[in-house]
Amino acid sequence: MDIHALRAFEDNYIWLLREGRRIVAVDPGEAAPVLRYIEEQSVDLAAILLTHHHGDHCGGVAGLLQHQPVHVYGPAHEAVAGVSIAVGEGDIVELPGLPASFRVIDVPGHTRGHVAYYGQGALFCGDTLFGCGCGRLFEGTAQQMWASLSKLAALPPDTLVYCAHEYTLSNIRFALAVEPGNAALEARAASVAALRAADRPSVPFQLAVELETNPFLRCSVEAVAGAASRRSDRPLSSGVEVFAALREWKNVFR
Ligand SMILES: [Zn+2]
Repeated sequence: MDIHALRAFEDNYIWLLREGRRIVAVDPGEAAPVLRYIEEQSVDLAAILLTHHHGDHCGGVAGLLQHQPVHVYGPAHEAVAGVSIAVGEGDIVELPGLPASFRVIDVPGHTRGHVAYYGQGALFCGDTLFGCGCGRLFEGTAQQMWASLSKLAALPPDTLVYCAHEYTLSNIRFALAVEPGNAALEARAASVAALRAADRPSVPFQLAVELETNPFLRCSVEAVAGAASRRSDRPLSSGVEVFAALREWKNVFR
């Protein structure tokens, strides 16, 4: 099975899983790029996977269903138009015609019912974990997002993470402000800058790299906790408090 990136909007990725002439679209925020791919490659749409209800992730569903009626898998705990199979924590998604199955992980925080799909060494996590960052807390609490990120961080370190936005470079700027002495982060800054200068995606990335460079996964590291504490000017006694302070800092970071 191959995984292709389609660009959408300013900085979204629609991920296509492909086996032979069948594809599955993950978070098609718009239909046009997927329909173009279907036409150019003479492939069939077999299913759609959705992580959460935001329009830049599911806005293309209606257009794709018009072209080809297929099953749409989406989060059980939020309302998303077009979803035919609602999924939640522990469900296994078997994709029609593809040698792939995915385990559903509930990851509330960015939205209340956000889910991620994990299988074949790949994680599709929408707007939860980004390259060197994480999603904003639109509906959930810091506690929820912290617990969700902790679940993802516990997946095998060689997991390839397919998030839905190209935010890595600007996230790295923030990460360097938090943890300027992190050599792995400096190395990542250089390699991602080179990728982006060549107009190549920085996604997917390995979970192991996130664990070494993403401040939101490093709340128990002394340098990160210390920076968050100095910034918020109060002692922070737990991982979730450090996480909440980092998230607030990032919200206003320019
Ligand atoms: Zn979103």
